[in-house]
Amino acid sequence: MSKKVRVRFAPSPTGGLHLGGVRTVLYNYLYAKKHGGDFIVRVEDTDQTRFVPGAEEYIFQCLEWCGLQPDESVLHGGEYAPYRQSERKEMYRQYAEQLVKNGHAYYAFDTPEEIEEMRESLKAKGSHSLQYDYNIRHKMNNSVRLLPEETQKLLDAGTPHVIRIKIEPNQTVSFTDMIRGEITFDTNTVDDKVLLKADGMPTYHLAVVVDDHLMKISHAFRGEEWLPSAPVHILLWKYLFGVNEMPEWAHLPLILKPDGNGKLSKRDGDRLGFPVYAMDWTDPKTGDLTKGFKEIGFLPEAFNNLLAVLGWNDGTEQEIFSLEELIEKFSMDRVHKGGAKFDFEKAKWYNHEWIKKLPASNYSGRVKDIFIASGIEVKDEAYFISVLDLVKDRCTLLPDFVQQAGYFFSAPQTLDTEAVKPKWSEAKNDFFEEYIQQLTALATWDVASIENTFKDLAAAKNIKPGELQLPMRIMLVGGKFGPAVFTIAEMIGKEETIARIKNALVIFG
Ligand code: GLU
Repeated sequence: MSKKVRVRFAPSPTGGLHLGGVRTVLYNYLYAKKHGGDFIVRVEDTDQTRFVPGAEEYIFQCLEWCGLQPDESVLHGGEYAPYRQSERKEMYRQYAEQLVKNGHAYYAFDTPEEIEEMRESLKAKGSHSLQYDYNIRHKMNNSVRLLPEETQKLLDAGTPHVIRIKIEPNQTVSFTDMIRGEITFDTNTVDDKVLLKADGMPTYHLAVVVDDHLMKISHAFRGEEWLPSAPVHILLWKYLFGVNEMPEWAHLPLILKPDGNGKLSKRDGDRLGFPVYAMDWTDPKTGDLTKGFKEIGFLPEAFNNLLAVLGWNDGTEQEIFSLEELIEKFSMDRVHKGGAKFDFEKAKWYNHEWIKKLPASNYSGRVKDIFIASGIEVKDEAYFISVLDLVKDRCTLLPDFVQQAGYFFSAPQTLDTEAVKPKWSEAKNDFFEEYIQQLTALATWDVASIENTFKDLAAAKNIKPGELQLPMRIMLVGGKFGPAVFTIAEMIGKEETIARIKNALVIFG
């Protein structure tokens, strides 16, 4: 029987969540849901120097906004708790000690100064590698070089030390990546990474392997930037638990800058004017704000969709996928090896499509908040939603609703008189004066009555209705946009329509 699918997203709480991070979450989530498995979020906070307050909460808020809820995590609990590595500190030492005992790791007592000296001397000799590895370990202050009694003495005296993995030279380490196929590393290029730090805290390398084992992780999906660490992890699996127990790996392609080469960074977002974080993130140290997709008005449905297709497709031309469809169609073997260029214009297109596709009631709460912040009062919820549904085809980001729907709630602040004035005439003025009278007398206020009255009066006055519709639109909307003008009149009501026409006539003079 094959293992139950258990995948994990393992963020380090060091800052905001980059869209590449959310895509890693998404692919983990989709894989788990597709295979009836579990999606685990484990917080990898063993590097205390990089710990940033608030980052963990922020990550969980992002996942919640995206609708990608973990089955097990710090917040959701689970059978394998705790899910924060700093709280698991005591579990790791025994594995490091076991490696020492079996000859796969060693105690290293070198001070930072000694390591610096070693690097300087390697540099002076013109050595191409400055790594702590098989070349130099025999010259350093560690249990490989020292006699067992000397090592014991140092340990007994409580001398600060780390435990390093002992990478054997001239070997190859291979594994099969679900996206990239067979990958082979030469151990001569791998350094003796620290596994356990002097304060007893594991490094990422030890913790990730031990926890993937203890939490029965079946598949480990992570960013391509972790590929160089893979040989260390594979050797740890081999020495500690056996390679047959190892999860299957997939190293996800990078998300690339829209221009040039290389990984998309926060700086590219600042430079090109778009967010790269899921939600607004304020750096607690500097107070700097990095804008998020949520706050600029993306829908989570669109965000998930655009991330899913950054590096994956289902083999057809289909571009719009709901989360349910993604769960059904996602497969790791259709993830591309090469990086995917991020295109913000395309990202906005996805949002536009999703704004159109979803009923406005799905996002009206968020639009309402934006309206309130812009000083527009919303009294009637049903009316509000019907207005949003009427104009949603014209909106790309949620704040666009302010311009596209604001005039349904209050008269436009300014009128685009330039669009009307050159062709304005006494005859048109008379038309609208009379139209006001006829509208006042209308018994039923619906699109047909408003429109027929308009057309009949235009015919009687021998003016083309087309020439009157633009002024009417400017009167009601303020500009040359919006849905059918008679529909707008019907929705804003008789009194308001008449008031706006009257007001405009004064301005058009
Ligand atoms: N803690 C690592 C990170 O911050 C996780 C890498 C992995 O998934 O193995 O990305």
